[in-house]
Formats: sequence, structure tokens, C-alpha cells
Amino acid sequence: HDLRNEDLKDLHELGQGNGGSVKMVEHVPTNTIMAKKIVLIDAKPAVRKQILRELQIMHDCNSQYIISFYGAFISDPNICICMEFMDKGSLDGIYKKIGPIDVDVVGKVALAVLEGLTYLYDVHRIIHRDIKPSNILFNSKGQIKICDFGVSGELINSIADTFVGTSTYMSPERIQGAQYTVKSDVWSLGISLIELALGRFPFSDSASDDSDLSDFENTLSPSRPRGLALRSAEEARAEKEKRDKKKKRKSKGVSLQGGGMTMSILELLQHIVNEPAPRLTPEGRFPKEAEDFVDSCLFKEPDERKTPKELLKHPWVEGSRTSGFDLVAWASTF
Ligand code: ATP
Ligand code: MG
Repeated sequence: HDLRNEDLKDLHELGQGNGGSVKMVEHVPTNTIMAKKIVLIDAKPAVRKQILRELQIMHDCNSQYIISFYGAFISDPNICICMEFMDKGSLDGIYKKIGPIDVDVVGKVALAVLEGLTYLYDVHRIIHRDIKPSNILFNSKGQIKICDFGVSGELINSIADTFVGTSTYMSPERIQGAQYTVKSDVWSLGISLIELALGRFPFSDSASDDSDLSDFENTLSPSRPRGLALRSAEEARAEKEKRDKKKKRKSKGVSLQGGGMTMSILELLQHIVNEPAPRLTPEGRFPKEAEDFVDSCLFKEPDERKTPKELLKHPWVEGSRTSGFDLVAWASTF
């Protein structure tokens, strides 16, 4: 049956991103709790309808590693996407609450994300395009699932502008304008895993012997606590509004200019392209196999990087698959 906004009762807000917000809702006729993502899209009705059509592919995405889809509809001026509710939220929220994530859990995350990416690509030829801790969700059944993948080309086009602020999981080749491939997702996974294991975004601090980087960081934002991403969703939204008001010029190069903050984003992107990739450090704190896995996600040259399917054979990931680590018990600790 069709999902209608009238049948959904708002419970509370789960979070906000650059593109919109996510609410916990109840589908009253069926007593089902869902997560409703509200995306504000500045596009013509025909484009919105096209987006809705493209989103229907999500109905065919059935995997234990992918968030289930209940349906999508237009609620002017927004597009609403209703999906499975994950009661422990996203992994960024979890580490911000409890600190660095146990490496055994990080291994399970690697396994789940690789399985999800392999499913999306092998079965549907979908590349995720936005792997990061806030798009990896966890529940008290111990399940780890990915969400917010790029099913709709039109949706990607319509909100492309808003990605500027979160492009820091972007691979060097993407920053340099190459096409997305599954290997760009692998880079983003590598960055995400370091972030979870260290409890902070890998480009934001440490690189202990790299004093240039900390100088560079101070220019980013002297007042910002270390370990946070470059700018918050609020800032990104405010900047987007400003840009929109300035009567948009379509070129991304143009939209990056203006404002002290934006130059530093360029510097971060430059850093990703020019400097060695981050690693799981300090040496010896994590299992060798985990270090090696992360290194293989973060080859700067995409040709050297393996695909998600190939990486499923990595000893660290195979070990995670058979490990007896109890995610249900872990979930009950927070
Ligand atoms: P960005 O907009 O930069 O991609 P984001 O992923 O944090 O950032 P949203 O996708 O809008 O932004 O999600 C906002 C928050 O809502 C997430 O961080 C997550 O904590 C929460 N959330 C999203 N989907 C679900 C879900 N299905 N179940 C539970 N919580 C969710
Ligand atoms: Mg998201």
C-alpha cells in the first residue's frame, strides 16, 4: 500500500544533516516505527517526480546490511523518504557519546559496510557515494546497516551543492574530478574506520609529527574543538542559504569562493590529495591486520585499491566474520 504523510505521527527528531532532517515517526495504521527523512529540494515538479521514480529502486534493495525502505512521497516543498528505524542511531553519534569504538566492533563495521557495498554494486550496480559514520546505523539487535546511498541521479544533482561541507571523506581521485567508482567508497570506508577507532576525525588533529597540519588546522577554525569535522550542518546550511540568495551561479568553483572558511576547505582537499593518507596509529595500539586493512583502503592511487568484494577476503574481515564478539551485549552498554 502507499505511504501517506497523513498516516505518519511525528515522535521526535533524530538528527539533522546538510540536506534536511530525520524524524522518528509512527505509521499509525500499522503501528510501525519508521525514520522519515525530509529533504528540501529546490526543483521543478517534473524533477521531483523523477526523483520519486528513481527512489523506488530502494524497494528492491533487500539485504541485512542495507536499511529497509518503506516508501517515499512528495510533501511540498520536501521529498520524504521513509526507512527502517535503527534504535541505536548512527556510528558518529555512538562514538561521540561513548568515545573510541572497540576495534572488534570496528571490524564488524568493516564487514557490514563491505557486504552492503558489494550487494549494492553486484545486484543493482549502485555506488554508495556517501560512506561516513553518520550513514552507518546500528540497532540493539546488533545489526549494522548502511543508508543514504546514491540511488537517484536526479536527487544527487539536486542536492549536489550541499555536499561541499561534508566532502572530507572524499577520495583523492574524486577531489581531482575523476568519476565515482566503488573504490572511492572504499577510501571513505578507510577514513570512517579510523575515525571510529580513534574517536575523532583523522584529518583534524594528531598527525603528530606534522606541525604544518596543526597550523593549517588553526587557520580552519581557531575556536572549534579539535576532533570535529570542518563545519557543522548549521553552518553548511547557512552558507547554502547565503549562496542561494546570491542567485546561484552553477559552477562549483564559483560556489566555493568567498568566506574565510571555504578557503580552508580547499586546503583540506589539497591536503588529502598531496599528503600521505592517514593510518591507524599509534603503531602497536591496534592489531596488525586492522592496520593493514585500513592501509589497503587508503591507497591514494585507486588502481592499487581493492574493490569491496575483494576486501571481504582480507584476513581481518574474515576474522571479524567468525569472531564471537557479541554486538547485542555491546549495544546494551550504552
Ligand atoms: P549529511 O547530511 O551530511 O549526510 P547526516 O548523515 O548526519 O549528514 P542525515 O542523513 O540527514 O544527515 O541524518 C541525520 C541523523 O539522523 C543521522 O546522523 C542519524 O543519527 C539519524 N538517522 C538517520 N537515519 C536514521 C535511521 N534510519 N534510524 C535512526 N536514526 C537515523
Ligand atoms: Mg545521512
